[in-house]
Amino acid sequence: MTERTIAIQIGAVSFMDEGVGQVLDTVIERAAVNTLWLATPTWNRASGGRAEPGRPFPDHGRQEYEPDWQGGNYATVHGEYYGATRLGPVGRAPEYPDWDMLAAVIPEAKQRGLKSFAYFDESSHARALRRYPGFQQVLEVDIWNKPARRPCFNNPDYRNWVLAIVEDYIKSYPLDGLAFASARPGPLDRLLQEPTRQGLGLIVCYCPHCRARATERGIDWRRAQEGHRKLVLWNAAVSAGKRPPDGAFATFWRLILTYPEIVQWQALWADGQHQLYRDIFGTVRSLRPEIKVGWEFSQNLGFSPFARAGQNFAELSHIADFLKLDTYHDAGGPRLASAVRNIARAVFGDADPEQVYPVLQAMMGRDEAPLDELPKAGLSADYIRREVARVDVGREGRSTVWAGIGIDVPVGQAAESDVPPDNIGDTPMTDADLTDAPDLVRTTPGRVKDAVLAAFAGGATGIVLGRKYSEMRLDNLSGVKAALAEL
Ligand SMILES: [Zn+2]
Repeated sequence: MTERTIAIQIGAVSFMDEGVGQVLDTVIERAAVNTLWLATPTWNRASGGRAEPGRPFPDHGRQEYEPDWQGGNYATVHGEYYGATRLGPVGRAPEYPDWDMLAAVIPEAKQRGLKSFAYFDESSHARALRRYPGFQQVLEVDIWNKPARRPCFNNPDYRNWVLAIVEDYIKSYPLDGLAFASARPGPLDRLLQEPTRQGLGLIVCYCPHCRARATERGIDWRRAQEGHRKLVLWNAAVSAGKRPPDGAFATFWRLILTYPEIVQWQALWADGQHQLYRDIFGTVRSLRPEIKVGWEFSQNLGFSPFARAGQNFAELSHIADFLKLDTYHDAGGPRLASAVRNIARAVFGDADPEQVYPVLQAMMGRDEAPLDELPKAGLSADYIRREVARVDVGREGRSTVWAGIGIDVPVGQAAESDVPPDNIGDTPMTDADLTDAPDLVRTTPGRVKDAVLAAFAGGATGIVLGRKYSEMRLDNLSGVKAALAEL
């Protein structure tokens, strides 16, 4: 059989703190890693930087928070590739302005027989991105016709900027692969699955490019926007406990019947995301066909039937060499508990979370601990096996499935005083974990081992250890090798 991929997500800070050779030797020794996912570009603390402020440090690296961490491109920016976008060659991370992670790490990795992927974290929510000159020109536009917070997939300057970074990477460095992460739910998904606090710039996009695409498809954007505005009011009322007289769900469905454009708008938004995937895939294939390209999918696909419906693996497998699905089973416990409480304040607002939970278990094909025990128990290894097996069937023989295995992913709330003010309001809601019980689930070597075995039992051909080396304890990393010894 072909070699299993054992990949690990690593950000620049680990190499700077611990030395390139030292980090590579450690991940090989502890986890038999054969592939690096080098986090660049990233403006997201989930993939870049040390432990998040207020979170525990692991037993390696420097134990000092980075309150001013911004992130960005940790490779050299080659200006000649950025001519087609008004954003230009922006993006260099300010932390190590003269250090090129790809140039420094790839040769050392090759010497040790490791493959190197660029792990492109779109980080669409990040405030640091919006600081770039001209970035406000590429932002999505919300239901009140004002610029929102994330860049629009259908804006040619944003699209060309992403493609310029991709072209720069694959022409400038001997990479073996490129992984792209775009963890953002669409507007309807948001309104269905959680309180949206009056939309807060999340219900999008009504920029001229999106309106033009809608017109091409015969969708009346004014009707979509009118419907969205009513749906935001519905979401606000239901999440505040003011259940409409006909019920939360029936009232929602009536809005959909009155404004079918709302559903069309979600499809339009999702197609913008997938068109960016197609463009990235085609760009890499045309320039360096030997480079592997694939997509990361957020854990929310295992939580919300609406998010799950939005990612069709049969279709996506035509434009991917690998499909990486996050199955963080430790953090998944508190995260799922939060997701159930959220959805019971939105589309399933007619029932209590305790009533919603078993129905969702059945809908999503899960068999996990009772709701109130989830934050302490985490999800089982069998959750990973089921998720992987589902995607493995979905891919219809094309592409391949890699499981994202979480090691020491933070759970619960960080102490508020430790969170830099810049980060407040920037956290992507899909990963929001609202629990703050004292004894939340923790990663152990045994749980890592079970997770790895479950991923391969489900049909994965690889695993990707996440979220980032700089938050993983070394003894937990050793759980990977213990699993591999049993395969
Ligand atoms: Zn737009």
